[in-house]
Amino acid sequence: MGEPGVELTTAAVLGAGTMGHGIAQVLAQAGLAVVLRDVDAERVERGLAHVRKNLDGGVERGKLAPSDRDAALGRLRGEVDLAAAVGAADLVVEAIPEDLALKKRVLAEASALAGAARVVATNTSSLPVTEIAQATDRPERVLGLHFFNPVHLQKLVEVVRGERTCEGALALALALVARLGKTAVVVRDAPGFASSRLGLALGLEAMRMVEQGVAAVDAIDAAMTLGYRHPMGPLETTDWVGLDVRLAIAEHLCQELGEAFRPPQVLRRLVRAGKLGRKAGEGFYRWAPDGTRLGPADLA
Ligand code: NAD
Repeated sequence: MGEPGVELTTAAVLGAGTMGHGIAQVLAQAGLAVVLRDVDAERVERGLAHVRKNLDGGVERGKLAPSDRDAALGRLRGEVDLAAAVGAADLVVEAIPEDLALKKRVLAEASALAGAARVVATNTSSLPVTEIAQATDRPERVLGLHFFNPVHLQKLVEVVRGERTCEGALALALALVARLGKTAVVVRDAPGFASSRLGLALGLEAMRMVEQGVAAVDAIDAAMTLGYRHPMGPLETTDWVGLDVRLAIAEHLCQELGEAFRPPQVLRRLVRAGKLGRKAGEGFYRWAPDGTRLGPADLA
């Protein structure tokens, strides 16, 4: 398959938010030299601080040797300048907001500056990879690498094959996912892929049940955790993902797949109020500053 003997060694991760910092962390732990880029120094520093906190946590729990933590941190640096971030990268991964026009613009710019890039990846949860690819100077090198939150703990990476993705890029991506110790599923470039489409279907229905007063938030979640052995209920999952992120995905899937994905009013209302879930301290649940889940939020 593809490009024997070639291995990705140098990565640029664009966006240092929930997903970007986690992706940068696992790439650095797998031995790649990683540059984490965001739009200002404060956001870059916040992302790097999250990585340090995750790795320190791993050491405290005895899961990670201090020397491995230090080595991973030694391979990771922050950057604000896009050209400096991607200049030497053979892998570019974007994890910027779920906005098609923004992703097309940023990946087009990044790809043009990344002469050595063999794989240009988007972490989009739902948007068309083929269309993002077409905006760049190397559509055959573009694919989806859809990580899950929290990246350092989740085992799945959905690898999305665009219409023009070449075998070589796909092979490099699959080899990378294996190096990360994660499992890849390869999916076609269809709206919401496999995971977001199914996850949203459940999450949006749970929100409509909240609106209709079918049961309390924690009762609806318990129906899935205890009744169907899901590790987490659909409303708590929404808080982890971010309500703004889920709303953006739902809007896109509603447009592409129809009414079943129309965002419920409660989701719009909470997003408008800044109640974006765990990262904001409140969503369907309340969250302590250290990220511990407290009780259900008052949705009245
Ligand atoms: P986030 O809001 O936490 O982080 C996005 C970051 O991108 C912000 O720090 C923002 O400043 C930065 N940014 C904006 N424009 C930029 C630019 N031009 N260059 C560099 N950085 C820029 O969002 P997130 O939850 O990390 O989501 C990012 C992507 O990952 C979205 O496409 C989302 O759909 C996808 N995703 C999210 C989850 C999840 O659970 N949150 C899971 C899988 C995939």
